[in-house]
Formats: sequence, structure tokens, C-alpha cells
Amino acid sequence: MTTTTTTAPAPGGLLDAALAYAAAGIAVMPLHTPDPVHGCSCRDGADCGSPGKHPRLKHGVLDASTDLTRLRAWWRRWPDANVGVATGTILDVCDVDTNDGLRAVLDVLDVVRPAGPLVRTGNGWHLWFAASDLPNRVGMLPGVDWRGRGGSAVAPPSRHPAGRRYTFQQPWTATADLPACPPVLRRIVLPPPPPAPAARSDIADLDRYTQAALTGEVARIRAAPRPVYRSGERITGGGRNCALHLAAFRLGQLAADGALDRNTVWAELTDAALAVGLGQAEVRRTIASGWQAGLGRPRTRPG
Ligand SMILES: [Zn+2]
Repeated sequence: MTTTTTTAPAPGGLLDAALAYAAAGIAVMPLHTPDPVHGCSCRDGADCGSPGKHPRLKHGVLDASTDLTRLRAWWRRWPDANVGVATGTILDVCDVDTNDGLRAVLDVLDVVRPAGPLVRTGNGWHLWFAASDLPNRVGMLPGVDWRGRGGSAVAPPSRHPAGRRYTFQQPWTATADLPACPPVLRRIVLPPPPPAPAARSDIADLDRYTQAALTGEVARIRAAPRPVYRSGERITGGGRNCALHLAAFRLGQLAADGALDRNTVWAELTDAALAVGLGQAEVRRTIASGWQAGLGRPRTRPG
């Protein structure tokens, strides 16, 4: 086997892409290269469990850099290295592995397609967002991970083991701002700690019984089971929507005498429902329906 000393251009524009990311402030690292025959360029070859997705450098993402000279040296050494981008500083990546996962994310966001760059990976998609100071979170939804602080992702035009390349289905450009992580998604990645009700001034005027009822309903929503997806169909909606409807109904019953503040209750229920992954429109509809039904069946408080 002979080694060549000429500098071949990086196949597929891998270096060009790496330089473009780095110029935009996104730290880059060279990854191993997948091979349809030999598996992976690493020493595990066909036995590699993550072909073409793991770093060539010893310290992984800690070695990622925006230094253009260093990048050129890396891709001179490994011209066909896949491109890994560090997450958590400029961008975060919502890493979707399955069709069902994508459906779940779009459902939560209440959109038909995401706002920003969209990468087609081997079997799934990456949604790019502006860094949101969120940590990594595996399984934020079934088949969906979040790559945040200290994380990384494989970026276009890296090659997938199956032979295809990671490609932008919706473009990334260095000059366009990445979309901010929508609050509804943020709450799924990092659910807020349950509020200490007594400390919340906006509901301080609720009497103790009503307060306990509200806290209990919110807890039930948060504990409700998640939906099950199969082959793109939602088999069960989990218990989340039911729990939300029942909560709105019971609190609506208490509100019939006018002592319960509708805005406070709706805000609390909405927070809890979005945090467990229900979509905005669904949440609005369900609360309104449950609340209305509850008002029609008043319940008197003890004392
Ligand atoms: Zn490998």
C-alpha cells in the first residue's frame, strides 16, 4: 500500500462545510468515516457500533475547534472524515430517529414543518435551533434526543453508513439566525420543577381547599402516561389529554361560584399540559371544553 503526499480536495466538500460552520462560530471536529464494506474507519471496522459517527480525536467534542488552520490540517490528514459539530454554544440539535419521533415533535410544536434548518440523516432528521443553554437529553420524546451543552451532532455533508449523505432539506446559512428553541420544546427537554404553590403570589389568594385541588390536578397531568405511536399512527393518546380534560372539569366545577380565578387556573393547567408534550391548540380546546362542562355541574367546597 502506498501513501500519497498530494493534497486531494475533500470529497463531498467536507472541509468546505467544516470551514463554513467554524466561520459561523460552530466548533467542528473530524469524525470517523463509514464504509459500506468495512463498516467504519476506526480500528473496530465492521464491528464498530457507531460507524462514522464518533470522533477521530482523543478528547472528542472537547477537541472541537473553530480554528480554520487546525481544521485544514485535520482534513488534510483525513480528507474523507465526517463532520461533527459541537452543540450548546451556537446551535442545539433536536435529534429525531424515527418517523413517529418527527410526528411527535411537529405535533408538540403545532407546525407542519420546522422553522429552521432541517437535516435528513440516515434514518431520521436533525432540527437545528439556536443554542438554548439546555443540557443533553436522551429520550425527551420517544425516538427523540436533544443535543445541547457538551453535546455534538453529525452534520452535512457527512456520509451515513448506508451510503447516503446527511443533507439539508431546509437550508442552513451562516448569515441567517437559527430559530430559538420554542418554549414548549424547552419544557420537554428540561421540565420546570413543580412550583411551590404557596410561594406563587399570583395564586396566593386561593383558599387552601382550592389550592390543594389545583395542585393535585396539575400533578395528575404531569404524571399521566405518554402516547404510544406505531407506524406513524398515534395508537393511544396516553392519559395526558384525559387528565387535562378531567382537571379542567373538576376545577370548572369549583369555579362555578366565582371564587376561582379562571386566568390562574388556565395558566397552571396550560403550563402542565405543554410540559408533558401536548400541543398548544389541543391544550386550549381541551381546557375550554372541560372547564365549560365543569361550570355546568357546580361542586360546593367544604367549609
Ligand atoms: Zn468506528
